[in-house]
Amino acid sequence: MGFLADSLNRIQPSATLAVTSKALELKAQGRDIISLGAGEPDFDTPEHIKDAAIKAMREGKTKYTNVDGIPELKAAISAKFKRENGLDYKPSQISVGTGGKQVLFNALMATINPGDEVVIPTPCWVSYIDIVRLGDGKPVFAETRIEDGFKLTPAALDKAITPKTKWVLFNAPCNPTGAAYTRDELKALMDVLAKHKHVWLLTDDMYEHLIFDGLKFHTPVEVEPSLYERTLTLNGFSKAYCMTGWRLGYGAGPEMLIKAMSKLQSQSTSNPCSITQYAGVAALNGPQDFIPRHNKSFMERRDLVVSMLNQSTGIKCPKPQGAFYVYPSCEGLIGKTSAGGAKIVNDEAFVTALLEEEGVAVVQGAAFAMSPCFRISYATDTKSLEESCRRIQRFCGNMK
Ligand code: PLP
Repeated sequence: MGFLADSLNRIQPSATLAVTSKALELKAQGRDIISLGAGEPDFDTPEHIKDAAIKAMREGKTKYTNVDGIPELKAAISAKFKRENGLDYKPSQISVGTGGKQVLFNALMATINPGDEVVIPTPCWVSYIDIVRLGDGKPVFAETRIEDGFKLTPAALDKAITPKTKWVLFNAPCNPTGAAYTRDELKALMDVLAKHKHVWLLTDDMYEHLIFDGLKFHTPVEVEPSLYERTLTLNGFSKAYCMTGWRLGYGAGPEMLIKAMSKLQSQSTSNPCSITQYAGVAALNGPQDFIPRHNKSFMERRDLVVSMLNQSTGIKCPKPQGAFYVYPSCEGLIGKTSAGGAKIVNDEAFVTALLEEEGVAVVQGAAFAMSPCFRISYATDTKSLEESCRRIQRFCGNMK
């Protein structure tokens, strides 16, 4: 018998973090590397949020807090749901954790029994699959198609649901595709869930505020209120508030689930950082005007990247309406050989050769459960984006 837990064999280390550290390693060796791997905005945390953290520290708010969030933050989250989503959640229906990732982890670990099925539309965020597997659940994929802009169809969702389905994980705008839905498209999907009454919905609204071209965000429970009793709505601070390093996220749903999540958290990390929580209050209650400013930049960057990628030989890139990712297909290059002599047998070979030969770090589609594609995070400066797309064009153009 081995020393390490068997459950560890069921999961992979996070591929996005692996790409980022590989890029850093090459940079440290003096290579000229542009990293488009990490899923975080390049913008700094707004000053008023930092000031709130400094104030909290000065005032001695440096002790343990309630396990799943200070009352001030829960009140701010409750007000946010009312203001932005028209939803009523009491503080007892809200759980705050060390990042949205922990809240997701708590929810799945607190509910999955061996063999329970969890429907995951693909391509999907890397962690969904591994967290489900860690809990001995069974991921069931509902595939989307590039022709549909990677949007899930009601038929594909319906087909993936069985009597064993415990959860459907839904994420829009989506990491890694950026796919976002109109109200009608979302309603058609939620009609499917309304019909399957044994299924719970975990909606990951992490990219709620990163939505473009005038499209309006809607959260599932808002368009299908009958799902309120069996939905966990997940959200956080990392993306819209540029707070990836602070580690703060939250979920809202039925009290029974929230209590179970808090019980789990009380025996793992306890409360999220007290100082971060006060920063979170300032983020939600303070000015929101930087969000449209950031979105304007994101849209310009998206347009640049999509246009340059579509001018690359063998690459096809849809134009998404949310998040800060694009998910191009490199199907046209599979089977070819790069200028450096690498045989491009799949998307992993494509991204490895691109990093080695041109110094551009992107993440292979295999990590997000759909190949042959790759993910670009365009949350970086225009100059780096232009240069990296020029390198991708050269890399693809020189393939034989
Ligand atoms: N959900 C999605 C879809 C994400 O892309 C991320 C981060 O990359 C998260 C949740 C978790 O974010 P955090 O743990 O930083 O709050």
